[in-house]
Amino acid sequence: MKDLKVLISEEELNKKIKNVADKINAYFGENEELTVICVLKGAIMFCTHLVKYLKMPVKIECVRLSSYGADTKSSGKIKALDLTLPPLEDKNVLVVEDIIDTGLTIKFLKDYIETTLKPKKLKIATMANKKMARINEVQPDFYGFEVDDKFIVGFGLDYDEIYRNLPYIGYFE
Ligand code: 5GP
Repeated sequence: MKDLKVLISEEELNKKIKNVADKINAYFGENEELTVICVLKGAIMFCTHLVKYLKMPVKIECVRLSSYGADTKSSGKIKALDLTLPPLEDKNVLVVEDIIDTGLTIKFLKDYIETTLKPKKLKIATMANKKMARINEVQPDFYGFEVDDKFIVGFGLDYDEIYRNLPYIGYFE
């Protein structure tokens, strides 16, 4: 790992998050309750910023999944560290991810929620969409920005648990 470069500035990122929230508001409307599921730890910053702009009544839940360890490549195995969720039958649900890379993590979570908790509507929002690495058909319904095969950090995203607190998105050259 060498120098950390800025990929998306704090200001630009805020605009992109607001734009994602506008689309979510337009899709779900302002009246019906929405359960937002934050996928920890990576989505913590995106989720807290995103929910500030949502206009419907919002409930926030968290799950904790892990697939990278201290590497910059997905291990391919999803570790469900905490999947505790309330009943979601007949609820509108939005899963909030930091980044969708191979798609394995989000597919695992989507399948789990759909089959065991049977929500009325289930949509996926991710801060970053790394399309090139996708190995399945899962696509986010809402995303902040697309990224090529760079390993990015900041705004919740880590490298070996560091850099999550950066207010911008960076990458290493
Ligand atoms: P997937 O299962 O889609 O391959 O990977 C999803 C998880 O891998 C993300 O939630 C994130 O924790 C991690 N990940 C994927 N790409 C990156 C990246 O560029 N930077 C960081 N920090 N984590 C990534």
